[in-house]
Formats: sequence, structure tokens, C-alpha cells
Amino acid sequence: MSPSTSAPVYRCLACHAGQPLHFAGWKCPVCSGLLDLDELPRFDPSLINQRDYSLWRYRHTFPLPVGVEAVTLGEGLTPLVPVPVDGRTVSFKLEFANPTGSFKDRGMTLVLTAIRAIGVTAALEDSSGNAGASFAGYAARAQVRASVYVPASASGPKLAQIAAYGADIHAIEGPRSNAAEAAQKAAAGGLYYASHVYNPLGLAGQATAAFEIWEQLGRLPESVILPVGNGTLLLGLQRGFRALVRAGLGARLPRLVGVQALACAPLWAQYHHGAEGLAKVTEGATLAEGIRVFRPARAEAILAAIRESDGTLLAVDEPAIEAGRAELARRGLYAELTAAIVWEALKHAPGDTVAILTGGGLKNAR
Ligand SMILES: [Zn+2]
Repeated sequence: MSPSTSAPVYRCLACHAGQPLHFAGWKCPVCSGLLDLDELPRFDPSLINQRDYSLWRYRHTFPLPVGVEAVTLGEGLTPLVPVPVDGRTVSFKLEFANPTGSFKDRGMTLVLTAIRAIGVTAALEDSSGNAGASFAGYAARAQVRASVYVPASASGPKLAQIAAYGADIHAIEGPRSNAAEAAQKAAAGGLYYASHVYNPLGLAGQATAAFEIWEQLGRLPESVILPVGNGTLLLGLQRGFRALVRAGLGARLPRLVGVQALACAPLWAQYHHGAEGLAKVTEGATLAEGIRVFRPARAEAILAAIRESDGTLLAVDEPAIEAGRAELARRGLYAELTAAIVWEALKHAPGDTVAILTGGGLKNAR
């Protein structure tokens, strides 16, 4: 599937208007709806480039024209490590082995590839976390000028990483949402918004995690458990597993089990208690800072993906997050606190499971 430069790549979730790759907006220009990718990829095992040791081995599944040069740091093909846990074996996918230290690189390699392909030379993102670090790293690789909007209160290893890559950091006073608003204002002024949330190209990159799990296990697992904030990895996994099932490489979709911090668990509340569930939860502070997202833009799609896969959403309290990181570390897996949230949740997701460690322990200040 290699569209010509005029073929639609993006499709509006609300009015279904299509946009080509060179569309540089971040919302539907017709109705301001959220953009998704136009098509499910056609996965063909015979088209995997076995000599490419990065996620670009699945290039045939990407909605990019032939001949576009990849902006890559060798991301993907992360380890899948079987670990005994309470009498069964859980396979941990070590996403912190990606070039900037988190799963975000799967999406950013595609987003920056598109940015460079359409001739954009400056772009922005709002994130003081892994997405900001990944954006800044891939922008440096692409020689695209990067602006990153962060809350003025942000600090720690991720902010240092963003600065080291040479991004212009715009510190915005007030809550996290102020940084997002400032970024969107700058985007409205014409700067390309390389948002990990709004730009759906990242989902085509996240889908490669599903392809790798299938290649590394030689089959699809019963379930996949992962932290969920904005839900882009979960939506990418849905895209990848759907393509694998459609290609006849698995009988059914693995159950997608999303984990949230109890302190900020809007998706968990909506899934189990409907729309009124939102009234029962708050945007509380949590050790799992990477998934502290109270209004995920793609909430509806995330809930639908979980239902489609017969999965569920779980919520974990703060002491269990910290205990989870210690338990993982004692098995040689040094996870970011946000990622360690999967440990406690494993108790509620029995059977043949892959657990995704989205970021590494070095990402935390402690
Ligand atoms: Zn629209």
C-alpha cells in the first residue's frame, strides 16, 4: 500500500473528509474533527524486509509514498523478554530500548519522516515528557527546527533530554492545559503541530509493536497489558492486531488491557460506570506522570478498541505503582514509574500475556 502523493492519508472521524500527506493541519479543515488514518494496512509477511533491523522492516504497512526517505534512529525491534510471574510466564516488551528511551519513537519516526517529505522545516509539540523528548530527538535527526511547549513547573531528566537535543523550550505558566493551548495557538499561526495525540501518522508507527509481538512470539498472545493516558499506543496496537487478523495470522484480536493510575483514571471510570463515571474521578497527581491525562482526545476510540477486543481497563493506586517498579527491578527490568503500573495489573489479567514497559527507569528523577 503505497499511496501517490495526492491519495488521502488522513480521514476525519466526524465528517470523513480525506486529506493527502502534504496536508499540514492538525484538525479536519472542514469540521475541526479529529483525524485518523484513511485505511487499515494490508500486512503481508512476505513483504517484511528481513535485512532491516528497525520498525521500517514493516514499511509496506505505512501510508507513505514510495521513495520517501525515512527519518530514523533505528527504532523498534525492542526485546520481548519472558519472565516467570506467579507461576506463569509474562513476556515484557522493553519499549525503553528505543533510541530516545520510550515507545513514542515508533510514532515520531513516521511523523518526522512526513514533515521532512512535505518540506516543512519547523514544527512544534507540547509535552514535557517522553513525547517531547522523542519529538526533539527526531527533529534533530531530521534537521527540523523544534519548539516544545512545556509547563513552567516541568523539570527532571526528560526536560534535560529535550534541551540537549537543541529544541526551543517555551515554558508556559499554569497547568498542563495552558501549554497545550499555547501550542495550539502557535499551530493556528501556521507552525506544523507534530502532536503525538492529534497527528494520526504516529498510529501507523505504534502498530508495529503488534507486528513485532507477532513475529517474536510466532503467534498472537491472549492479551496485551499497557499503561494508557492518551491511548495512542493502544490505538496503534488495535490497528496492528486488526491487520494481522485480517491477514489470517491470528484467530482473534488479543484482549487489550489498559491500565490507569487511580488518581487520574477517566477512561477506567467511563468504561465501568458510563459517562457519569467521570464525576467520580479527578485529575489527581500520580507517580505515573506519563499517563496523567484527564481528557484524552481519542477517548471514544480507546473505549471502542477495548470493547472490540473484549479487553478491560484497570486502575492502580500509588503504593502499588512504586511496589511494581521494585518488583520489576528485582527481575532486572528497570521501568519508568508510569510503565511499572502494569505490574499490579498483571494480577487481574491472567493467561498468556504481553506486558508493555513503555519507558525506562532513567526517565524518572528518582
Ligand atoms: Zn471533518
